[in-house]
Amino acid sequence: MLQLCYSYSMSSGKTHDQVTWALTPVVWLISTWGFHLPLATGGIITLGHLIGGLLLSPDLDTRSRPFYRWGMFRFIWRPYQWVAKHRSGLSHGILLASWLRLLYLSAVLTLIYCITYLVLAQWSHIKAHSPGQDVLAFLSANLPTLLWLGVGIWVGCLLHIMLDALSSAWPTKGKRR
Ligand SMILES: [Zn+2]
Repeated sequence: MLQLCYSYSMSSGKTHDQVTWALTPVVWLISTWGFHLPLATGGIITLGHLIGGLLLSPDLDTRSRPFYRWGMFRFIWRPYQWVAKHRSGLSHGILLASWLRLLYLSAVLTLIYCITYLVLAQWSHIKAHSPGQDVLAFLSANLPTLLWLGVGIWVGCLLHIMLDALSSAWPTKGKRR
């Protein structure tokens, strides 16, 4: 019964998607006109907003639309789901949860890259350098872009959390994440 009440107070995945798309031009306008950021920076933030709403959503903590969008790579989010319970502070926290998700994904991708690189270097008998150097070089060369992208992802996740809070305040029927 508690679970039923709980699920009734959440927005559906479809609604989250629709709101994410609907607010995309608004995020771009606020970034560029509101905050007077360059057009390219506004574009990066807007792209981040879409990624945050559709792919790196707080609802990755459960079997949701964003989770299934990862297709064959959704295994990445299984350990995350074991740790972050649905709608807990780890997934639906306002300030840090989206950055934690980003950090977790970056760590997994770095691990996959390093393992793949070392295996291929071993097979092809080339003298391998540390793949960690590649990752650090990439980070230092693209840090501002990555940070703005992170801000956009945070915005997309924040809007998701706000919609969850709104639909908790005004629950309606027929919910699916
Ligand atoms: Zn949610």
